[in-house]
Amino acid sequence: MKKEMQVSAIKNGTVIDHIPTQSLFKVINLLELEKIKSSITIGNNYSSNIMTNKAIIKIEDKFFEDEEINKIALVIPNVKLNIIKDYQVVEKKVVAVPKKVIGLVQCMNPKCITNHEEIVTRFKVVNTEKIDLKCVYCEKITDYGNIKIRK
Ligand code: ZN
Repeated sequence: MKKEMQVSAIKNGTVIDHIPTQSLFKVINLLELEKIKSSITIGNNYSSNIMTNKAIIKIEDKFFEDEEINKIALVIPNVKLNIIKDYQVVEKKVVAVPKKVIGLVQCMNPKCITNHEEIVTRFKVVNTEKIDLKCVYCEKITDYGNIKIRK
């Protein structure tokens, strides 16, 4: 009960919870939260007063497009989003890992043409569980630990 209250403490908007704290800033980057004008609350998740190393982001009056949501899967596979309307959780969205990633991630191969010329990066997601991205240009794999979000 108490937990539900915590999640739905905003009137309308999106709550992303169970974010591993080490991925928090990647999520902030990915969703371009700095551009959002409405109120954003970022906090650590507590469970029975034990810190779980999980963070929570609450964004008021913001509902993401599926395409934006799927980007989060690149940094936190299986994350859940709570859609809040009138203080109630009306929907829980599970993030799906996209099959293609275009223009979002930097290729980890320093020799790749996308790191030297103004070319939009393109990857095929060859492993949706471990999150391995295969560059369309150089065919090198950028794995989960090396995913850098390109601005
Ligand atoms: Zn490449």
